[in-house]
This record gives sequence, structure tokens and C-alpha cells, in this order.
Amino acid sequence: MEMIKVGARRPAMLDRPQQEMLIDGQRVPALSGKTFETRNPATGELLAIVADGDAQDVDRAVKSARAAFEGPWSRMKAVERQRIMLRLADLVEDHYEELAMLDTLDLGAPYSRTMLGKARAGALLRYYAGQATLIAGETLPNAAMGDVISHTLKEPIGVVAAINPWNGPVGMSVWKAGPVLASGCTLVMKPAEQTPLSALRFGELCLEAGVPPGVINILTGQGAAGAALSAHPDVDKIAFTGSTGVGEKILHAAAGTMKRVTVELGGKSPNIVFADADLDKAVPAAAMAVFANSGQICSAGTRLFVQSSIREEFMERLAAFTRTIKVGDPLDPETQIGPVVSAPQMDKILAYIESATREGGEALVGGKRMSGVGYDDGFFIEPTIFTGLDDTMTIVREEIFGPVLSALSFDTIEEALQRANATEFGLASGVWTSNLTTAHRMARGIRAGSVWINCYQMLDPGVPFGGYKMSGFGRESGPHHIEDYLETKSVWIKLD
Ligand code: NAD
Repeated sequence: MEMIKVGARRPAMLDRPQQEMLIDGQRVPALSGKTFETRNPATGELLAIVADGDAQDVDRAVKSARAAFEGPWSRMKAVERQRIMLRLADLVEDHYEELAMLDTLDLGAPYSRTMLGKARAGALLRYYAGQATLIAGETLPNAAMGDVISHTLKEPIGVVAAINPWNGPVGMSVWKAGPVLASGCTLVMKPAEQTPLSALRFGELCLEAGVPPGVINILTGQGAAGAALSAHPDVDKIAFTGSTGVGEKILHAAAGTMKRVTVELGGKSPNIVFADADLDKAVPAAAMAVFANSGQICSAGTRLFVQSSIREEFMERLAAFTRTIKVGDPLDPETQIGPVVSAPQMDKILAYIESATREGGEALVGGKRMSGVGYDDGFFIEPTIFTGLDDTMTIVREEIFGPVLSALSFDTIEEALQRANATEFGLASGVWTSNLTTAHRMARGIRAGSVWINCYQMLDPGVPFGGYKMSGFGRESGPHHIEDYLETKSVWIKLD
């Protein structure tokens, strides 16, 4: 087998070329014996051969999660769960270089970027650890009944299935595990088939932190494993993050057993620059709102609306900035953007670029696959800005999930609002202005789960994130996220 060449920073986990799944505290192969390959999208090198789980592995993992849910975990005091989570936060931070390197190799995101996730991962785990000891029911005054005392109990919902996308692997594992551990639920987590490695290492760290076997299971496999998981009768809740198309399938699969479901889906987010904005900040931010992570971010600001009076200057500066973005080897500290995750993803993006040209758009910057030394073996696409578009064109309407920006212009605030909202999605948005009234009117008018004013892509464990419309439902992070992992039971005591 070819070996990766990342020298001393090569994660020790990759010494084992066969990567088995993690069920009931053990690394085990798929019952079928089937495997799949995961490769480095920057070089094509083989990273590992991974267990390819199917319905029988799903069943084994769900049984393990159910047994753990009914075992000592269910009787563990909240303060004990909290202690384990705080230990896990420390361990994840201590091992973050390894986790970040696994993601860099698997996903192609620059190491300088994957390392930025360290602070967020620690903060997320500590935030949810805090919530573990705050779960509480209420004593409620009865509205119409006399001589009765009523109170509520908050109970963990049970076995949770998390099904994850590939665009931010370890961050997503932590985000899914946080509310599960805090609430006392158990988890079967299926990482995306393109990027399974860091989830497996995260699962091992959970065990090392003292999470009992079976509480966190990592099931590697393809979409079919996700489908089996979302239809499994003994799964109580699904926390899905991924495309809107798969989200719809999951809702259908979950209906038969009335599972609780939250779906964090795709987007086509508007980023709106008014003439009174601070352009020194807005120009680089508008570029990185879409090009960061090679455009593979659900909330990427892919529809840029610039007020007409500054359009010429803004586009000139945006084009100049974009030409300075360094695309290349994810291990080079100077690199800002790596490849996209896979050949199919690259082909999909290139097809969107072709459609834009065919429909009359013009590539102001970029528009091609990159070639030459350092690029030929990977899936690199130039950061691309299209102009000459109207709102009906395919690239303006559909999520591309690649480094492609649609640049549009507008005249009035009413027009900006109307066109920003003229999309089936509603995940996020950006507004750049120095006028407080404009900022507030836009924040109220935009139909999306996040509105970033004079910033973009901010995330915090304490602030909810999620979608309107076809971008899904449910909010991750924030004080109420944990409610999705709890059942409410009403207890009545009659006073005679
Ligand atoms: P995807 O929907 O193709 O796959 C996501 C996961 O679902 C993978 O683990 C996959 O194996 C699994 N899956 C595939 N078919 C399935 C089925 N029939 N039943 C159950 N599971 C199945 O998404 P992707 O291409 O991995 O990720 C990109 C998408 O994720 C984009 O649309 C992006 O916007 C979205 N995303 C959303 C958020 C958010 O928070 N809203 C965050 C990150 C990514």
C-alpha cells in the first residue's frame, strides 16, 4: 500500500492501514468484511481502508447504544457526565494537531484552517458540559384544576443517530456528541464516507475520557448505512446534517417509527454590501465568505449583492483580492485554499461553471480546474467569480458547494430584501452597512437562521445555528439545543 508522506506530523492512527468501526468500545470490521478506500484529495494518495458498514452493522451499533442507554450511563449523576465531558474537552485539545491533520489529509482543507477548529471544539464541549447540570423540569401552576400539583421531568430521549457531511469532520463530530453526552443519551454516529477518519479517533478519545463503551459508537459506511440507521426501529432521534435531498429521504425514513428529527441542510446564502459599508473589511470578507474551505460550507455567502453605486470599485477590488488567494498544498502554511473533497464533487462544480457560461454569465476571475505541478493529482478549482448573471440562472439558484461566487447588484434596500429572500433556502446571510437602521431592517426582513452584520460565518456554542425553509429545521448550539435530546414528562399529584 502507498503511504502518505507528511513526515513527523503523520497521525499515528494511520499506522493501521485498516480502519475498523467503533462499536461497544471495540474497533471491529464490518460483519460483511467489506471495506472502502479513503484518499487524500490533494494528492490521490491512499490514506486508509475503512470498514464499510451495512444494515447488520447498524443493528449491532444500535443494540450497543440501547444497552449502554439502559446500563450504568442512565444512572450516572449529571455531575459525573460533566466531569467526563470536561476531561474529553482537554483530551480533544491535547490531540487536536492529530485530529486536524486527519481532516486535512481526508478533506484537503489547509492545516492552518483545520487547526482553527481547536478553540471551537474545546469551547463546544465545555459549553455542553455546563448544560449537563442545568437540565431541569418545572413546577407548574395548574390553570383550571384545583387540588393538584403538577411538575415536569426532563428525560433523555434515548438512542440518537447522527449522520454527518464531509465538510468539517471533527467539528461536526464534537457538535453532535455534545448534546448527546450532556443529556444522557447514547449515539450511533455515521461520518461521511469521504472523511471517516477523525470521527474514529474522536470516538477513541471519548473512551479514554471515560465515556462508557456503547455510549458513542462510530459507524463507518456509505449512504446505505445512513439509510439503514434512519429507518432503524430502535433509534429514537436523528440529528442529520447534509444535503437537502438526503434530508428529505431521512424525513420519509423516520416517519414509520415517528423518530424525532432535526435536519441541518444546504444553503444559497445572500451576502449584501451597501454603499456605506467599510469596504476594506467587506471586500476580503465577501471573498472568504465563499472561498474558505473551497466553498464547501453550508452557510457560504454564494450570492453577493453589491449596491450599484459602488459596484465597479467593489468588483475591481474583489477580483484583485481573489487573485491573491493562494490555492495549493494543504500542508503548506501559506496555503489558504486546498482542493475540493473528491472527483465527483469537482465534476459537479465544473458542470455548474459550464452551465453559467452557457447561460450567459462571465467568469471575471477563475473558472477552471487547476493544472501543473502540485495540482495535477488533486481536485483543485480556481476561486471563481461570475458576473453578467440574473437571478434565474442555475448557478444563482442552486447550491454548488464549491469555490464559485455569483456577483449581482441592487439599487434599494427593498430590492435587496426581496431578492435575498427569493430562494428556497434560508440558512444564513450577511449584511455590510454602517447605517444602524439599514442593519436592523435587513436583520428583521431576511428569512434565514443567521444574519451576520459586518461579519460573516461567526459561530459560537451559545448562539443557535440552523435553517429556515429548505435549509432544514432545528437549531444546533445555544441554550435550547439540548431540548431536542429530552422528553418532557408531566407528573400529577392529586391532593385529597
Ligand atoms: P450528503 O447529504 O450527500 O451526505 C451527508 C451524509 O448522509 C453522509 O454521511 C452520507 O453517507 C449520508 N447519506 C447519504 N444518503 C443517505 C440516505 N439515503 N439516508 C441516510 N443517510 C444518507 O451531504 P454531503 O455532500 O456529505 O455534504 C454537503 C451538504 O451538507 C451540503 O448540502 C451542505 O450545505 C450540507 N451541510 C449543512 C450544514 C448545516 O449545518 N446546515 C453543515 C454542513 C453541511
